[in-house]
Amino acid sequence: MKLDARRVYLSAPDVGSVEEAYVMDALRSGWVAPLGPQVDAFEREVAARVGRAHAVALSSGTAALHLALQTYGACPGTVVIVPTLTFVATANAVRYTGAEPVFVDCDPVNGNIDVGLVAQLLRQLRVSGRRVAAVVPVDMFGACVDYGALLPVCAAASVPVLEDAAEALGATYLGATYRGRPAGSFGRAGILSFNGNKILTTSGGGMLVCDDPLLAERARYLSTQARQPVPHYEHTEVGYNYRLSNVLAALGRAQLVRLDGMLARRRQLRERYAKLFASVPGVRLLGDGDPGANCWLTTILVDPERAGWQARDLAAHLAAAEIETRPLWKPMHLQPLFSGAHALITGAAQRLFETGLALPSGSALGEEQLGRVFGAIGQFLDER
Ligand SMILES: *Cc1c(COP(=O)(O)O)cnc(C)c1O
Repeated sequence: MKLDARRVYLSAPDVGSVEEAYVMDALRSGWVAPLGPQVDAFEREVAARVGRAHAVALSSGTAALHLALQTYGACPGTVVIVPTLTFVATANAVRYTGAEPVFVDCDPVNGNIDVGLVAQLLRQLRVSGRRVAAVVPVDMFGACVDYGALLPVCAAASVPVLEDAAEALGATYLGATYRGRPAGSFGRAGILSFNGNKILTTSGGGMLVCDDPLLAERARYLSTQARQPVPHYEHTEVGYNYRLSNVLAALGRAQLVRLDGMLARRRQLRERYAKLFASVPGVRLLGDGDPGANCWLTTILVDPERAGWQARDLAAHLAAAEIETRPLWKPMHLQPLFSGAHALITGAAQRLFETGLALPSGSALGEEQLGRVFGAIGQFLDER
């Protein structure tokens, strides 16, 4: 079955003949199982790409977050610091461990975690005697957090960092201290997602990346039902069934071959949107065009006072033309699921949620479809 050909999607999977060839090879090899040679190769290739010594391929990015947090010692009675502006998976994974997520507001320019607030919260939590198992910065929409500022703050408090780079494969950090380092390389461990709408997809999948062989080994063990190394099935603790299938790893390897091309297309789309909106008052791009970002989803921010219209007006106009858009993540501290959670809030994330709109940004987006998107946006702006 094909996706609806008339509809323009936000970030449709970009899969073609290279992927078909890799997946067929995996099927013909007989390795239709979780694990196998494709998984091993995919792990090595992704680890090299993000500058890590070890990688563990898993069934989702959420599973990678869960296992990483468990290896960090997150458990009932501990606290994990999470940005309020993120996909719910980041906070859900904290809940799986029994730890308590505490939310922090974001930088109004790029939506990444506010490092000043993290420092303040770490001080507060120390005074109240809480044990903080981890800080989980999220590279929002594929733009790296300011690690030059964040890592020293966390190191000073002796709290390990887990980088949620689910959206950020292919992004580069361009700030101070760590200039040029890839997303996924920061903190004790990082996680990636290969969900269908992410930059690189295995249809569903994820990866934990780190430099510590013991951490990788522990995650691998927990992901395969925590089986003891004896011939029969012996278990001393709770494990999970979280490994990636060999067939899906083959799909991931094909996507990795094409990654630079897919990144270039997403960057080109951001440039075109930037030009289109450059002369429109009250509109700017989330992240102000950070050249290190992977441009996963190009997002505009609309100041209704200056623009004379709201992001949701454009969303409705595009929806009528069968063009998919999406608001930014609804902040976690505003979610019924996390009502009552402790949070340090400035209002920045809520404002981004209310004024932001992610535009069709997938690398599979063709010129004909893009022409339709630009035509519909042009018509909307002309009518104002
Ligand atoms: C997609 C995403 C995840 C979860 O990844 P899955 O592979 O869908 O489980 C986690 N965190 C963020 C920020 C994401 O965007």
